[in-house]
Amino acid sequence: MLTAHDTKARVLIVDDVPANCRVLMESLKSDYEVEFATSGKQALEMVIVNQPDLILLDIMMPEMDGYEVCSRLKQDVTLQDIPVIFFTAKNSREDEAKGFEWGVVDYIAKPFYIPAVKARIRSHLEQKKKRDLLIKLASVDPLTGIPNRRHFTDVFEVEWRRAKRGGAAISLMLLDVDYFKQYNDTYGHSAGDECLKRIAQSLHHSLRRPGDCAARIGGEEFAILLPETDALGAAIIADRIRHDVEALDIPHSAAEGSGRVTISAGVATCTPTEEIERQALLNAADEMLYQAKERGRNQVLGREI
Ligand code: GH3
Ligand code: MG
Ligand code: MG
Repeated sequence: MLTAHDTKARVLIVDDVPANCRVLMESLKSDYEVEFATSGKQALEMVIVNQPDLILLDIMMPEMDGYEVCSRLKQDVTLQDIPVIFFTAKNSREDEAKGFEWGVVDYIAKPFYIPAVKARIRSHLEQKKKRDLLIKLASVDPLTGIPNRRHFTDVFEVEWRRAKRGGAAISLMLLDVDYFKQYNDTYGHSAGDECLKRIAQSLHHSLRRPGDCAARIGGEEFAILLPETDALGAAIIADRIRHDVEALDIPHSAAEGSGRVTISAGVATCTPTEEIERQALLNAADEMLYQAKERGRNQVLGREI
C-alpha cells in the first residue's frame, strides 16, 4: 500500500480524445500524479523524460496507434518494464486476447466501471513497487549501501555502448585497500567492515557527476566508472579519490609507511570502437592496479588503450 510518506506514483494516460477519459482522470488525481498525452508520439517523448510508473494506453489513435507505442516501449531496455494497460473501445474477446500479445499487464474495455479500473490500477502499481524494490535490493551491496558488482556490470555495459555510439572517452578505475588483511588482523573483522563502509561513503562523495558510478565489486575492491572522461580528467578524479580516503585518517598501525588506511588504484581510458572489447578496459585497469601495488601502494597509475 502507498503510505503518506511515499511520493505519489505517476500515471500517464494516452488518448487522442481527452474528453473520453476525463472522469477517469479526475478520479485518479487524488491518489496519483496524472499526466496526459494526446498522441503516441507525445506519449513516447513524455515517457523518456519522466518515466511514469504506469501507462494507460488507448489503442485506436491516428498516426501512431497504441500497438505501435507499446511495441516501441518494449524495444527499449530502459522503458520495457513500465507496466502498460490497454484501455480501449475494442471490446471483443479476440481484441482482448490480441492485446495481451503485446506484453501489456492488463486490458480494460470501455465503457469503464471506474471503481474496478481504480482497483486494477492500484493492484498493478503495488506489484510494480515490489518489483522495483527487488531490483534495487539485487543491485545494492548490503554492507556498504553502494552499488554491487552486478549493478556495476550492467552500468558498464550501458555506458560502453553509449560511449561507442557517441564517440566519447570512458574511464574505469579499480581500487584495492592496502594491507587490508593486516587491518583485519590488527583491529578485528567488524572494524574492517566499518572501514569498508567509510571508504565506500568516501568514494561515493568524491564523485560529482550523476553518470559516475562507484561500486563494491569484491571484498575490499571497488570500481568506479567515469563516462565521458578522458585520461587527464580521470587522473585528476582518481587522485582526489585516493587523497580523500587518506584524509579519512583511519589509523592502521600495521600499514607500512603511512600508518593509516590507504588505497591503490589503476585507471584505464579509451574511446570504445567495434574493435575494442569491454574486457580490455578492465584488464588494463587491473594491470595498472597491480603495478601501483608493486611500486609501493597508496598511489594511482593509469594508461590509455
Ligand atoms: P594489498 O595491500 O596487496 O592489497 O594486501 P591486502 O592485505 O589488502 O590484500 P589481500 O587480498 O591479501 O587481503 C584482502 C583482505 O580483505 C582479506 C580479507 O579478509 C579482507 N576482506 C575481504 N572482504 C572483507 C569484508 O567484507 N570485511 C572485512 N572485514 N574484511 C574483508
Ligand atoms: Mg584485494
Ligand atoms: Mg588489498
